[in-house]
Amino acid sequence: MYKAPVEEIAFTLKHVAGMAEAIDSGLMGDLGEDLVDAILAEAGRFATEEVAPLADTGDRQGARLSNGEVKTPDGWRDLYRNWAAGGWNGLTAPEEFGGQALPHMLNVATLEMWNSGSMAFALCPTLTMGAIEALNVHGSAALKEKYLARMVSGEWTGTMNLTEPHAGSDLGVLRARAERRDDGSYRIFGQKIFITWGEHDAADNIIHLVLARLPDAPDGTRGISLFLVPKFLIHDDGSLGARNDLYCHSLEHKLGIHGSPTCTMIYGDGKFGEEKGAVGWLIGEENRGLACMFTMMNNARLAVGMQGVAICEAATQKALAYAKERTQGKAPGWSGSGMSQIIEHPDVARMLLTMKALTQGSRAIAYACAHAIDMAHRATGRRGHWQERAALLTPVAKSFATDAGVDVASLGIQVHGGMGFIEETGAARYLRDARIAPIYEGTNGIQAIDLVTRKLPLSGGEQVKGFIAELKAIAEAVRSSNLDGFGTTADRLESALADLEVATDWLLSSLAEGKSAEALSGATPYQRLFGLALTGCYLAKGGLARTADEAGEGRIVLCRFAAENLLSETAALKDRIVNGAESLAAARAVLV
Ligand SMILES: Cc1cc2nc3c(=O)[nH]c(=O)nc-3n(C[C@H](O)[C@H](O)[C@H](O)COP(=O)(O)OP(=O)(O)OC[C@H]3O[C@@H](n4cnc5c(N)ncnc54)[C@H](O)[C@@H]3O)c2cc1C
Repeated sequence: MYKAPVEEIAFTLKHVAGMAEAIDSGLMGDLGEDLVDAILAEAGRFATEEVAPLADTGDRQGARLSNGEVKTPDGWRDLYRNWAAGGWNGLTAPEEFGGQALPHMLNVATLEMWNSGSMAFALCPTLTMGAIEALNVHGSAALKEKYLARMVSGEWTGTMNLTEPHAGSDLGVLRARAERRDDGSYRIFGQKIFITWGEHDAADNIIHLVLARLPDAPDGTRGISLFLVPKFLIHDDGSLGARNDLYCHSLEHKLGIHGSPTCTMIYGDGKFGEEKGAVGWLIGEENRGLACMFTMMNNARLAVGMQGVAICEAATQKALAYAKERTQGKAPGWSGSGMSQIIEHPDVARMLLTMKALTQGSRAIAYACAHAIDMAHRATGRRGHWQERAALLTPVAKSFATDAGVDVASLGIQVHGGMGFIEETGAARYLRDARIAPIYEGTNGIQAIDLVTRKLPLSGGEQVKGFIAELKAIAEAVRSSNLDGFGTTADRLESALADLEVATDWLLSSLAEGKSAEALSGATPYQRLFGLALTGCYLAKGGLARTADEAGEGRIVLCRFAAENLLSETAALKDRIVNGAESLAAARAVLV
């Protein structure tokens, strides 16, 4: 059973991702390290003792639809209410609406724990948090006044309605319609698919954020507006009113996250209310909806990255426990009677160490991204720099961690042997759950395009170059530490960073020369190269800070393992980026 790794999370936040420095510089307000530890400890307890034990029920039962109403798995309604009563929904939300205005770093750390406990469960608050942020940044004072406090408390949940059957990655073609009404409200019509927690019985109201098009809107992404559309309309005194004209038509049958209802939502077909059309209110300006939604999507992208980290952690814990118990064969050097534990076999140790290194690497990348977001809000100067850093890291955090989630969950099954394929063991659920994360919130392919075409050119390429220079300083610090335990880590980091630098320069010059097809051919390998180089550097940073906690030498040996076993992949990735485009273009002829 999952046990939240509270000390490891605290260490990574403070000593790898930059929280300790930020606290020392007074940028985190009243937050001190002791309070961080106390919050993490309580989140860890709740995730371990309350969320994780209900994950299997959720997986087996799934969400069930009957007469347009969705019933969550047994125990989940109370679980959600207890979770919300703990104040977890409002960790980063504004104080004026009942939130605690704490740093994003703390929130992503707790998100990791909820998701390790149950990814399907944690999706509900993940969507609500994104909706809170979009409404807080772009909503009118009246809308905020009416909705935010009860979303922050978790009494009402939020959703994100973008996708339609023909509009997924390309939202420019979406067809949901909005009509103006004289009283300033709008009526919404259309169908949305794949809406996470679009209907359920855990909260009293559901606040849908819906993208739709006004009759006179321009074509494409410049003609999309964002609307707030509640399941129940709200009276002026704040009490719940009539059902709005929207409902869940059906639930998807999915590979994983069974406890999370994935809904087809119908807006405005006259099922509820006297006048056809779901009543909605504009968020932000007309035709500027996609920009508003992006506020929510960036938040959600990092949150999805946390799902990858969370699955890595939970799958690694399970595999490690199994490998210590299961005995088979005799490992090299085994002198005991009987069979050795499988963890003694070098190949099993290789799998487990790979899992551990990817878990810690993706955790550090995601927390560093959250640190950049916090600095962009709290730093006394250079906020633009931190905004760019967050923008650069978001696609890497989302994609590297979610790919790692799939790889690590698959390795976890492999460590279990045949038992890994048997549902009862629980290792298979991690892979089934993990598989969606590289797809939603912008597929990892779309993240790679974003990274290469929009993020590398930030500040004329200076943001990424400055970041690589900072990473080189970590390699240098490893070299000058003269610690034997690091082995050849300094050399390996320098090679990986040289590969990253060459690939970055090549992509930037290809883009400048208008060779976008060539650059895009290498976008996904580049994204992985970036994530691997960061993994090596952040593990090294943890190793260098080893005195800060008792795990001590273990960080250095894990870093060395990653540097000498995983980082050699960066050379191959660089080669694919720089030399792979021509053959890729030529070989498209065989795709007939
Ligand atoms: C379980 C689940 C929950 C979801 N929850 C929500 C939700 O709450 N709200 C919501 O609005 N949506 C939700 N989605 C939808 C999800 O965000 C989309 O599935 C996702 O954005 C991909 O869109 P698509 O499925 O239409 O795939 P497509 O866009 O058709 O993509 C198919 C493939 O083509 C690639 N591709 C597409 N365009 C390009 C391009 N320009 N360049 C290169 N490659 C490209 C993609 O990377 C992908 O590999 C959910 C989906 C699922 C399965």
